[in-house]
Amino acid sequence: MTGQPDREAMDREEIVQLQLERLEATLNRAQRSVPFYQRRFAEAGFDAEGLRSLDDLRRLPFTTKRDLRDNHPYGMFAVPLRDVVRVHASSGTTGLATAVGYTRNDLKTWSDLVARILVAGGVGKDDVVQVAFDYGLFTGAFGFHQGAERLGASVIPVSSASARRQLGIMKDYRSTALVCTPSHAMTLADAAIEAGLKPGTLSLRHGLFGAEPWSESMRADLQAKLKLVATDNYGLSEVGGPGLAGECLDRRGLHVAEDHFLVEVVDPETLAPVPDGTVGELIVTTLTREAMPVVRFRTHDLASLTRVPCACGRTMARMSRVKGRTDDLILVKGARVFPSEIEAVLLEVEGTEPHYEIVLERRHGGDEALVRVEAATPGDENLRGAVERRLASELGVAVAVELVAPRTLPRSEGKARRVIDRRRPDAP
Ligand SMILES: [Zn+2]
Repeated sequence: MTGQPDREAMDREEIVQLQLERLEATLNRAQRSVPFYQRRFAEAGFDAEGLRSLDDLRRLPFTTKRDLRDNHPYGMFAVPLRDVVRVHASSGTTGLATAVGYTRNDLKTWSDLVARILVAGGVGKDDVVQVAFDYGLFTGAFGFHQGAERLGASVIPVSSASARRQLGIMKDYRSTALVCTPSHAMTLADAAIEAGLKPGTLSLRHGLFGAEPWSESMRADLQAKLKLVATDNYGLSEVGGPGLAGECLDRRGLHVAEDHFLVEVVDPETLAPVPDGTVGELIVTTLTREAMPVVRFRTHDLASLTRVPCACGRTMARMSRVKGRTDDLILVKGARVFPSEIEAVLLEVEGTEPHYEIVLERRHGGDEALVRVEAATPGDENLRGAVERRLASELGVAVAVELVAPRTLPRSEGKARRVIDRRRPDAP
């Protein structure tokens, strides 16, 4: 059933007990070896020795991206550099990159966790895994590369390349699993259709897509176009990269590797915990990382949690798809809108393509949004009106729509840049 069944199907009590033991060890190590945490814990009047239950974690302050940056590059490491065998960095989507270190044990754990995600997504030893993430400081490519090797699958480390080259390799090497961002997968799907590749020319069966928020409608579209089963996975470089959570084939939430991470959901404004099922900001504490333990990291990713048992037999809690980032949240005339909600609508309207951008401008003292989307018939006023009406009813607020000709918006070779924010004075 699973990559590590003895772990992934533990009883709830066992999970909580293991988390408590590992949390205690992590906090002790952070307090002892990382001056930043020593200071923070002291300021909060917290002593790691006094940890009694998982709830005690709430007495601790959060760690922010800013904290990691202030201690860049090695200030957050809990081991000397001679014990660090690899350094990666966060992808820097929201500014400067921050370094992330791994001991030999950390690399082994990381491989195991990504192997779990591959297994959960249906990938096995016989699969040929094409990794189309950019190799480099970013954790995505190396994470999946090692995980797939650990599993015994055959890895094709293509890295980023033109759609033509990705498709050529996919065809020649009979790749059965594709690992990349959903937006890049869409670029490949459209390029395959455009090149007239007949269904069946490719051998793809599994798509493991992550590293950016995407929608159910985008999944349906990708599955239909690429003839594969697409699963979502989640991780972030600051706490080690991919491997934190991934969907099983049931595809109703991403199983969190709770034996290695403690995940909380809080209200992004009050920072108070919210109940299961409520969307809030995801907070992650690492439980086994040696080189760089991170306590209550504010991910700024919005999702909810459920501990309801899953049909697949795994007992690990599931997180919802990431609904967006707290800093992606667009306020249009007072309404809270996520780019992923706009995407879901666009994919449902016949006649538009899944390539779009959202331009934000400050006008007449308020924020206004313009959705630019590709359509085969960009001059079609009826279509434009239909998209506007549909968006207004789904989002609860009016946004302007502009139809543009196919292939006029930039294509993603990594993470898609969907929102063009012209509201700030320093914006281009
Ligand atoms: Zn499941």
